[in-house]
Amino acid sequence: MTNTSDAHTRSAMVIGGGSGIGLATAHVLARDGYRVTVADVNLEAARTVAADIGDTATAIGLDVTDEASVAAGFADARDLHAVVNCAGLSLPGQITELELAHWKTTVDVCLTGTFLVIKYAGRHLEDGGSITCIASLNGRQPGTGMAGYCAAKAGVLMLVEVAALELAARGIRVNAINPGLVDTPLVAGIAFVPGLTEEYLENTPLGRSGHPEEIAEAAAYLASERAAWMTGSAIDLNGGAHLKRYPDMLARVRAMGES
Ligand code: NAD
Repeated sequence: MTNTSDAHTRSAMVIGGGSGIGLATAHVLARDGYRVTVADVNLEAARTVAADIGDTATAIGLDVTDEASVAAGFADARDLHAVVNCAGLSLPGQITELELAHWKTTVDVCLTGTFLVIKYAGRHLEDGGSITCIASLNGRQPGTGMAGYCAAKAGVLMLVEVAALELAARGIRVNAINPGLVDTPLVAGIAFVPGLTEEYLENTPLGRSGHPEEIAEAAAYLASERAAWMTGSAIDLNGGAHLKRYPDMLARVRAMGES
């Protein structure tokens, strides 16, 4: 069963759509018949993705940390049926050394940004629409050096639950996806830390990292009528990594400094 028949008159917005999981999600929703707005703080990247999709996609600049920017991004939305928030970043560091500014940037983009997206999506979505937030395995599994990111993503999971309660009266569903390690520019840096990728994969029962398209397919499912009875939920999509332990990134980085 596909959702193509109910999607072609509807529009979707993918925030953080200029790269990685968001890029893949924009393509998959366009394939499923949505008119897609690709929104990203990097407008050039959003334009490239929209151009690759073709006439059914448009690009806008949108910074999830700036309320006026989020409000403006949603102001012109018409027939908006699905919003997927993929904007995210991580500025790592051990808590005792972590710059407050780095903590704030991570929490601003990942958690406060999600709040602002839900706030305006909740106002502009048509009744029966959906919001999907890309959270993380780190919302439920701690990792050394990732305090801001883990705390923010755990916050996203609770925010999704509260929003699901508040928006259910209008039939708007709010869900999350918790990806594990997915091959995108966000995690390109781990390849430079000896042994870190291997430690990830040893702790991933299915033994490999994910493809952005695998997360995008779950986002398309959550946006569709096939998920009509699902709200306030989080899908663990990580090759089973939530069943084991997170790699010790700080130990790997320390070992690199000692060698
Ligand atoms: P990515 O870096 O490839 O893409 C992130 C996109 O978000 C970029 O296009 C970036 O410009 C945009 N963005 C950053 N700050 C923004 C802001 N303030 N406003 C609007 N857009 C902004 O990363 P990705 O791997 O595709 O990550 C997508 C989401 O998935 C993130 O929330 C990330 O935390 C989450 N995630 C990724 C992984 C992974 O292994 N790649 C794992 C778990 C969760």
